[in-house]
Amino acid sequence: MKNTPELRTWLDDLKLEHPVVIAGPCSAETEEQVLGIAHQLKDTDVSYLRAGIWKPRTRPGNFEGVGAIGLNWLKKAKEETGLKIATEVANKAHVDLALEADVDMLWIGARSTVSPFIVQEIADALKGTDKIVLIKNPVNPDLSLWLGGIERLAKSNIKNLGVIHRGFSSYEKSKYRNIPEWQIAIELQNRFPDLPLICDPSHITGKRDMIFDVSQTALDLNYDGLMIETHTDPDHAWSDAAQQVTPQTLVQIMKDLKIRKESD
Ligand code: PEP
Ligand code: MN
Repeated sequence: MKNTPELRTWLDDLKLEHPVVIAGPCSAETEEQVLGIAHQLKDTDVSYLRAGIWKPRTRPGNFEGVGAIGLNWLKKAKEETGLKIATEVANKAHVDLALEADVDMLWIGARSTVSPFIVQEIADALKGTDKIVLIKNPVNPDLSLWLGGIERLAKSNIKNLGVIHRGFSSYEKSKYRNIPEWQIAIELQNRFPDLPLICDPSHITGKRDMIFDVSQTALDLNYDGLMIETHTDPDHAWSDAAQQVTPQTLVQIMKDLKIRKESD
């Protein structure tokens, strides 16, 4: 993949003075929940409202997402608040529905990035799109799989690309839900300095109390943005309850973070 400054166009077009913020619930649960969160994130630093509607659960039997109806809720949230909308896609059917719903940003989840077949299917379905497509690191600490995913998307002529660093699973006990292994993301950043790099401290930490510190580390490393799971009633969230913050906490986090300026 050629490394070109054009990769930053979607980010530059936002004309932000702070890192781009993608926030919203782990899962869309009900229309009221999505709209309630969206309204509280309106007029904050948040540019993109995220919500998973097809949820890749490691074990069966957990909440697996509301499905396509959630796209209507996201669209309504966009109409009512002006926030752009983002969701996860994991196959061609998801991509087709998300494009039909005019979702602004699509991301590929960590469990999908491990499968070249799935990434290729998504890349083919998205061929030539001008939507923003972000790819999370694979669940396992394998830089090649991550690079391969980026290359498949780039070969499909998708120009508005970016990556999300959400940490890596390990069998060892750790204070993190997914160990950051910062050096892997730094290596990726060195290879593609113009590729927007977003940190997902929610899935790295698994705990809301640790989100600030991991976000600060990411900004100190010059990351371009943050994806932070945000819910109006985090403790009762249908997925990832322990790591979600309220919109008020998110605003406070953004206020407290030290943001590096180009001139620093
Ligand atoms: C998510 O963003 O809610 C999610 C499922 O993330 P990941 O693919 O990083 O596990
Ligand atoms: Mn989640």
